Amino acid sequence: MRIAILSRSRSIYSTKRLVEAAEERGHEVKVVDTLRCYMSIASHRPTIHYRGDTLGEFDAVIPRIGASITFYGTAVLRQFEMMGTFPLNESVAVTRSRDKLRALQLLSRRGIGLPVTGFARAADDIGDLIQMVGGAPLVVKLLEGTQGIGVVLCETKKAAESVLEAFMGLNVSIMVQEYIKEAGGADIRCFVVGDKVVAAIKRQAQPGEFRSNLHRGGTASLIKITPEERSTAVRAARIMGLNVAGVDLLRSNHGPLVMEVNSSPGLEGIESATGKDVAGLIIGFLEKNARKDKTRTRGKG
Ligand code: ADP
Repeated sequence: MRIAILSRSRSIYSTKRLVEAAEERGHEVKVVDTLRCYMSIASHRPTIHYRGDTLGEFDAVIPRIGASITFYGTAVLRQFEMMGTFPLNESVAVTRSRDKLRALQLLSRRGIGLPVTGFARAADDIGDLIQMVGGAPLVVKLLEGTQGIGVVLCETKKAAESVLEAFMGLNVSIMVQEYIKEAGGADIRCFVVGDKVVAAIKRQAQPGEFRSNLHRGGTASLIKITPEERSTAVRAARIMGLNVAGVDLLRSNHGPLVMEVNSSPGLEGIESATGKDVAGLIIGFLEKNARKDKTRTRGKG
């Protein structure tokens, strides 16, 4: 197969591992810097130009699109789809999962367990907003935040009110969420490939911290997940339309709750904690499924 990897740099761990895994299996791989692609959308025969030349045909494309370039990255991915290239994850699915509110709305509609969540932009009754998610303690999240930045635990109603007032003044969208205390500062990252969870890790926050992000000093370890957690993760990925996804769960007293479904999950934490060749499993998925013109959307979304 000829495989393109859309990524800003080939030195990123996940990109490097995907290149290695594909080459080991005898495929030809090209890392394509998403932002350097340019294309004509008026042409009958859609093509992508790159560094002064047309990019040529690929059997499959692996999008590794960073959150900050979602808009341009999904447009490039859509162009691949219009050319009939099989996307590991489709542009529509990537867009869906990047919009946190849209993603939670879709998951809740299909009955996936979620923390009680409210969202707001300029609510004029903060007291009611707090009441809506069951009062303090609660977690306030800036919608644009990643790696735990902009995620605040408010232990009292007073604290929640002042944090919400401050955020409302910033003209940003926010999420207000019930605090899942029993998760004990841990979350579970389930790595889904196709219809299976191929690896799972528990991320545990540092003592005194509730955010388990590895960037915030959290530590990763191997974990055995329950059948319910397994099926929740697989269903969540399927609802998003993602073939490959990192599904983050919180363990609550009433079962697994989905926090987020990530369309470009990193490989470093999961491979080093589990010792599994996740990159190889992803390439294996492409070997089984990548067919020309087999994209459901062909860029229509
Ligand atoms: P980001 O997308 O910026 O990583 P998250 O929403 O994943 O933000 O939150 C960061 C971390 O905070 C999570 O990994 C989890 O450990 C903790 N956390 C987030 N929401 C809750 C919640 N409602 N209850 C308990 N812990 C939470």
